Amino acid sequence: MNKELNAKKKELSSHNSKFMIHNSTPVDYLHEKKLKHLEETANLIRQDVVKMLLEAGSGHSAGSLGMADIFSAFYFYILNHNPKKPDWSERDRLVLSNGHICPVLYAALARAGYFKLDELKTLRKLGSRLQGHPHRLSLPGVETTSGPLGSGLSQAIGMALAAKMNKQKHQVYCLMSDGEHQEGNVWEAAMFAGKNRMNNLTAVIDRNNIQISGFTEEIMPLESLRSKYESFGWHVLEADGHNILEFVSAVMEAKAVFEKPTAIIAHTVPGKGVGFMERDYLWHGIPPNKKQASEALKELRTLGGKIKSEHE
Ligand SMILES: [Mg+2]
Repeated sequence: MNKELNAKKKELSSHNSKFMIHNSTPVDYLHEKKLKHLEETANLIRQDVVKMLLEAGSGHSAGSLGMADIFSAFYFYILNHNPKKPDWSERDRLVLSNGHICPVLYAALARAGYFKLDELKTLRKLGSRLQGHPHRLSLPGVETTSGPLGSGLSQAIGMALAAKMNKQKHQVYCLMSDGEHQEGNVWEAAMFAGKNRMNNLTAVIDRNNIQISGFTEEIMPLESLRSKYESFGWHVLEADGHNILEFVSAVMEAKAVFEKPTAIIAHTVPGKGVGFMERDYLWHGIPPNKKQASEALKELRTLGGKIKSEHE
């Protein structure tokens, strides 16, 4: 297993160094100051998530915290969007297929300027625009209503097809969980995108290895995920979902691929940044209580969202 992991890491690092040498982005544009800003924003998003979930008294902690770096990268660097004009037709689309991690989407949208930060505390409250699963018509910046797992990729394909028909140049990104790949319609969609060479579509898979009731590989093994997508005609990349530079590099490569859709398998730590939640699937669908939230916020403020072991 370790051998396999090391081989994967080696392959990834050689791939990345190749990419860094031959491409001007993001090395030229994602300079140190910007990178630091993205990391700090991810940390603020994590704190928002903890506060929102405490206030709501319900919701999904692990995936929301695990995807904070990727959401920071998207909303503050990658996406071509305008929070003041959420319906701008040339905007890049970000479809969140695993809608249950919407606290991280809401926090990123609020911090990007789609609505006021103060509204975050209404998560899951009666009459709130911030439903427990996103509702497209309620909140600016939300591209699809999601919750039933497995449907986001089909919706993203529809958007990507429409863009091609309208000769528009924007990109469509579909964020998915690993667990939702147990839904059959994911594979129907993957087959369609591969056949139609949907190069304006990038799927980002949150490979955190957990789902609500356990580890994905014990419940329904997904591996080899890379070769599954490759056999469906996709270009496949792997990235550390907490290394923003590495993740941005993968997205830039995806944009440069002309003949295929790209799947980025983003390796993440569920609950990232909060030691007692990390890698524990029991935190998939529950919020912290008051004491836990206070411990989590203290850790995020002092350790900056890094995994504890990185500081030891
Ligand atoms: Mg998962």
